[in-house]
Amino acid sequence: MSSIQATRMLTPGPTPIPDRVRLVMASPLLHHRKDAFKTILAENQIMLKKLFCTESPVIPLASSGTGGMTAAAFNLFEPGEKVLVATAGYFGNRWVDIATMRGLNPVILRKDAGKSFDPEEIRAMLDADPAIRGVFMQISETSTGVLHPVQEVAAVTRERNVLFVADGISAVSISPVRMDEWGIDCLITGSQKGLMLPPGLAFIALSPRAWKRAEEVRPQCYYFDLIQERASCAKNQTHYTSPISLLMGLHEALTMLHEFGMENVFKKQWALTQMARTGLAAMGMNLFVKEEGRYTWGLTSVLMPEDMPAGPIVAKAFKDCGVILTAGQGDLKDKVIRLAHMGWIDWADLAAGLHALAWSLPEKPKGAYLEAALDAYHAALGE
Ligand SMILES: *Cc1c(COP(=O)(O)O)cnc(C)c1O
Repeated sequence: MSSIQATRMLTPGPTPIPDRVRLVMASPLLHHRKDAFKTILAENQIMLKKLFCTESPVIPLASSGTGGMTAAAFNLFEPGEKVLVATAGYFGNRWVDIATMRGLNPVILRKDAGKSFDPEEIRAMLDADPAIRGVFMQISETSTGVLHPVQEVAAVTRERNVLFVADGISAVSISPVRMDEWGIDCLITGSQKGLMLPPGLAFIALSPRAWKRAEEVRPQCYYFDLIQERASCAKNQTHYTSPISLLMGLHEALTMLHEFGMENVFKKQWALTQMARTGLAAMGMNLFVKEEGRYTWGLTSVLMPEDMPAGPIVAKAFKDCGVILTAGQGDLKDKVIRLAHMGWIDWADLAAGLHALAWSLPEKPKGAYLEAALDAYHAALGE
């Protein structure tokens, strides 16, 4: 890579960090048991609840997002219990692994990569098997770019004695997720996607009925004990030593998001998504998720032709343009390229991403794709 250009991370985690957040994280540590830090955690709590659209506490955990998923499986269910795992990709499969590790009995609803679920099928499965105690699902399946029908599935589970656990790691702060209004029982996110922070924090919130369940369950997991964390959270503390710098950075990142207003953040994410889809289609690429309403707002994936594996194109985009794109995960490794546009990313970054991809294709498309992309961006913002 020539040394004179910036490196741009257009990846579905980690994502770029705003200077305001980096500066706060570089400030001297506060002691995690003293008042100044407790004030920060108290304010974080108010801002996190607003972000999750919930009245419940939002518990920060010192772990990557998967720690939040682990905490959900270990605190809400007992070994031997039946749960429905809806999977349509790499992260859905992680739910299967975590549920199995917890000793649960997962009934698996599997869809092809790039596809989503029909809430009526989930309703039928729950009707057919009243022993099912929970449903695990992604909100956004980051390996494919599919947005699952979370609100509809929540409507099905809330009528039943079934806890709905939603992995919102690539959705919260990227597209609207309204925990209480929709009836999600457990909502999880992580720091390094839409939240404009480094990796290292997970967040988990439980509905009142999920807390009731957590009070009965023995997590059999020393670190991820949500009852302990809830008690500490009520005192503006974390149970173990706090990830102090990250939680200080979180305070700044949440302040920024709420200064912009979440509605405006979502509008920007929507506009970037339209920009990416229009630009990629104009380049002649095959959008992996075509159905309206079923593509996620934080990344756009394309299906590569058989004779054009993702690896060399992603490598060239980095070498020549300093842009980090990502290939697929698992089975999709060489079949998909993912162009992410979540977090502290704007139209100019995304234009750089589109150019880097176009530049790296064996037959370079002409520049009209960029004009089409930018027109779509402004049109989506109503400009
Ligand atoms: C990134 C991601 C994860 C995993 O998060 P880690 O921070 O790597 O543990 C899980 N689920 C989804 C949907 C993700 O996007």
